[in-house]
Parts: sequence; structure tokens; C-alpha cells
Amino acid sequence: MMKKKVGVIGGGQLAWMMAQVAPSQNIDLLIQTPSNSDSAVSLATKTIFAPIDDAIATATLAQNSEIITFENEFVNLDELQKLADKGVCFYPRLSSLSPLLDKYEQRCFLKDNGFPVPNFKAYNSFNDFDSFSFPLVLKARRHGYDGQGTIIVKSEAELKTILPKFDGVSLLIEEFITFEKELAIVAARSVNGEIKVYPVVETYQQNQVCRWVIAPALLNSDKITEIETITQKLLIALDYVGVLAIELFLTKDGKILVNETAPRTHNSGHYTLDACETSQFALQLQAITGKPFGDTTLKTSGAVMINLLGYESANSDYLEKRQKIESLGAFVYWYGKTESRVGRKLGHVTVLLTDDNPEKLYQQAKLAIEKVESIWR
Ligand code: ADP
Repeated sequence: MMKKKVGVIGGGQLAWMMAQVAPSQNIDLLIQTPSNSDSAVSLATKTIFAPIDDAIATATLAQNSEIITFENEFVNLDELQKLADKGVCFYPRLSSLSPLLDKYEQRCFLKDNGFPVPNFKAYNSFNDFDSFSFPLVLKARRHGYDGQGTIIVKSEAELKTILPKFDGVSLLIEEFITFEKELAIVAARSVNGEIKVYPVVETYQQNQVCRWVIAPALLNSDKITEIETITQKLLIALDYVGVLAIELFLTKDGKILVNETAPRTHNSGHYTLDACETSQFALQLQAITGKPFGDTTLKTSGAVMINLLGYESANSDYLEKRQKIESLGAFVYWYGKTESRVGRKLGHVTVLLTDDNPEKLYQQAKLAIEKVESIWR
């Protein structure tokens, strides 16, 4: 069978993990990424060195690939549309991405399509804050990631010191949700409309950055069905092809709200590499190349994923700590980044869980998080 060539816009850890599974599907992975030190460069068949939003570089990527996909949504959609008009195949389609790239527009799309979301408003003038009480949440409408650009504002005084720092940046104002827990789901839709979902997981964010994920979430079956229904409806509303993630809040009064959706593979799905028959990266490649979907169920009772977040500015590869974590029986992924910064995702760890009792499994997960984090500090 002929090898397929897939181009990826972005060359960070998501493309790196996709590049690891590509050979098993007879796929050559090409990437577009700015720096030689980006994680996926060493594994890609070919790299076009250019910024993510450089559509001229994407035209070159397209000359070398049959399908283009994304690991990063900081693209210039208008420029990419010119390539699509000339016949370049993007999955997910640009029309699926276009309502999602700006956090305000994404919220409007979700609300207009009947999905439950927190109250929100675009920021234009100070009066826009009148309908919100403190704490409130301010978000940069574009280019936010890992909590960069998401700020919880506790008082009017704090607001007045923060706003000038965002001069010239479009902002979204949002009600602060007191949640019971945060949840996420990763799912995929194929070119012919078939949908596959992974288990709903619990995620834990500190300073707006994901610290760990427990799969499956300890949640009653009604809530799981509700989230799966939201997922299916969203994939269809977007006429989506590929893997998509949804981050949700379970509020203290038991409501499910959609926080945001990411049109790509996602940190909350990294556990699938070790814990599921088919990983989210394999599923993404199956979805966009029209291959039959693999099984997305868990191979074990559960799993926990712990992010190895930078806790200092350094150039260490932390080999000793990684080996110590590995000796716990954990799967360690190191993204090969040469520079550590506080809060930067340097790698992740998966621990498989075996208990059949959901409450005991949850305890097992918490214990595994504690053990890994006691080494990683
Ligand atoms: P990013 O795009 O950087 O992931 P998010 O909008 O997902 O930004 O926010 C990151 C984290 O900030 C969330 O996981 C959550 O912990 C917190 N957060 C975001 N929005 C709200 C909100 N409206 N209420 C309470 N916490 C929030």
C-alpha cells in the first residue's frame, strides 16, 4: 500500500506523539514549526521551518502532503482559505475551525447552538463589567494556552491594575464558576461521519495549567451520557473531521457547562497512549485518512496522567528524576525541550490503575499522583 503523507501545522509535543504512531499506520508525517529544537523535528519525515501562521510555508507543506492537520490553532485562517480554495485538503476543515479560534466567537457558537456555557461578554468598555461580580475571569480572545491569557480577577482594584497590561488585546469577560470538578472528553469524527469517544476524565488545573488527569472520572452515568451527547452534537454541528477535546465544569449544583473546546489532540487525552487500545494520536490519523477507527476503550480499570511541569528556569534534562519515576512502574514521556520554565510542560507520566471498585480506583489514582509529584519537585 502507498504511504500517505500527512502535514501537521505545529511541531510541539502533540506532533511529536503523533509522529511516534504514524509509522504503524504507514504514514509519513511532515511538520511546519519555527524552531529546530521543537519536539517533533527529530521524528518528522520533513520539517518546514516557519512560524505557525506562515501560510506561504503551509503552501510548501501542502505540496509535500496529501492532507494537512493541526496541532496548534494559532493559524491565519484567511490565508489558509486561499490554499483550500486551490484544493488543499485540511482536516479538520477550515469551516470547522473558524468558529473556534477566538474564545469569544467560540462561546457565541456554543451558546447559539444550545450548549450550556458560563455567562460571558466581549470586553469593549468598563461598563461591560457591570453585569459581573467578583471574582470574574478575563481571557485573551486569541493565542491563550496553558493558562497564558486566562486571569481570575478578585476585585475592582485588581481589575484596574490588570487591564492596562492587556492594552490592545481583545478580551472576553466571564463569570467565575465555582466548580465541583473539571472534566474533559476527547472524541473523533471520521470523514464519513462515524464518531468515537474516549471515557470522560477528571482534570485538575493549578494556576490555569493542567496538573493531572484521572481516567475515568468518578461520575454518575447520567452525567456521562449528558457529556457524550454534548460531544456528539458538537462534532456534528461543526461538521468536524479529526480529534477534538471538550473541557467542562461540573458545578457545585450539579450542572455541566462547556468551558472550551480544542480542535486537536489534547493534554487530557495523553493517558490514551498507554491505557487505551487506540491512542488519541492514532485516532486522529485514522479519522483524517479515512481508515477504520480502532477501539477507544480502556485496557485497564483506569489510568492517571501527571504533567511534568517546569518548576524553575533551568537547562536540565532531569534524567535522574525521570528514572526514579519510571522505577515506580510508570510510563514517562519526555518532550526533549532544552529549556525549563515555571509551568512549562516538559513531559508527562502515565500510571495504569487496576482496582475494579471506582472509589478505590480514585484513591489509587490520588496516591500515584502524590508519589510522582513527590519525586518531581
Ligand atoms: P486555556 O485555553 O489556557 O486552557 P481555559 O479557558 O481553559 O484556558 O482556562 C484554564 C483554567 O482556568 C480552567 O481549566 C479553569 O481551571 C480556570 N477557568 C477558566 N475559566 C473559568 C471560569 N469561568 N470559572 C472558573 N475557573 C475558570
